Amino acid sequence: MLTVSDIHTYYGNIHALKGISLQVRSGEMVALIGANGAGKSTLVHTICGLIRPEKGTIMFQGAAIHGLLPESIVERGIAVVPEGRHVFSTLSVEVNLQMGGFVHRRNSSQIQEDIHWMFDIFPILRQRRLQLAGTLSGGEQQMLAISRALMSRPQLLILDEPSMGLAPLVIKEIFRIILDLKEKGKTILLIEQNARAALQIADRGYVLETGRVALEGESAMLLEHKDVQRAYLGQKGHLSTVPFAAKAQKRQRSCGG
Ligand code: ATP
Repeated sequence: MLTVSDIHTYYGNIHALKGISLQVRSGEMVALIGANGAGKSTLVHTICGLIRPEKGTIMFQGAAIHGLLPESIVERGIAVVPEGRHVFSTLSVEVNLQMGGFVHRRNSSQIQEDIHWMFDIFPILRQRRLQLAGTLSGGEQQMLAISRALMSRPQLLILDEPSMGLAPLVIKEIFRIILDLKEKGKTILLIEQNARAALQIADRGYVLETGRVALEGESAMLLEHKDVQRAYLGQKGHLSTVPFAAKAQKRQRSCGG
């Protein structure tokens, strides 16, 4: 479904992606793992058209999408749940969902139908439908961000760090929902620092290091790989906590907290 070939992305002089290639097949869940600064979010932004790559190609369902505007990439069937959720905080839950269905705005009955489908997946959002999104808990905002993306009826759903900043029980619930979406046939690219949790539910994975793919393969193989265990999984049997903690500190600093 998605083929990224030899992508190079820069921020001025900073060469953030140095020849990344990856594939996501229809119906697959692919995990992209790596430490802070490895280039995961830059890759997401490059795929969804927020940043133009300097070199390389991105094919989606047989057509080139590199160089297209983000809105036409959404129309072609890619939706992103962004890192940090970015719900429209001053709008209600229901209006956030309507915004997610913007590409289908001429079909209001479909939008209504899909909002009810979202409420079936996330019953808490039904209870909160008139509440302003900014007043929801972190977990509820994540559920809203996922539903808002699903409202465009994407062929490919990209989730950028869906577990970031959430409590362990909420993370478990979010991962259960992501797995459920995959089992219902959704194609998913899951970007996660929580490497073990991501590899446990994904079919295949890519490990990014300083803008390059350092390793790729079946998730089961990556979970057993010594370098992955040493760098990303910590002690066997526990979720990786070190990159998580580092990231939480980074976010706190960037929010002035
Ligand atoms: P994190 O999980 O911390 O977000 P990441 O793997 O998503 O990390 P990126 O955010 O993609 O990594 O960053 C890749 C590299 O590009 C890093 O060296 C980072 O400092 C740099 N970078 C990211 N965004 C910008 C920007 N807007 N301007 C300049 N450099 C940037």
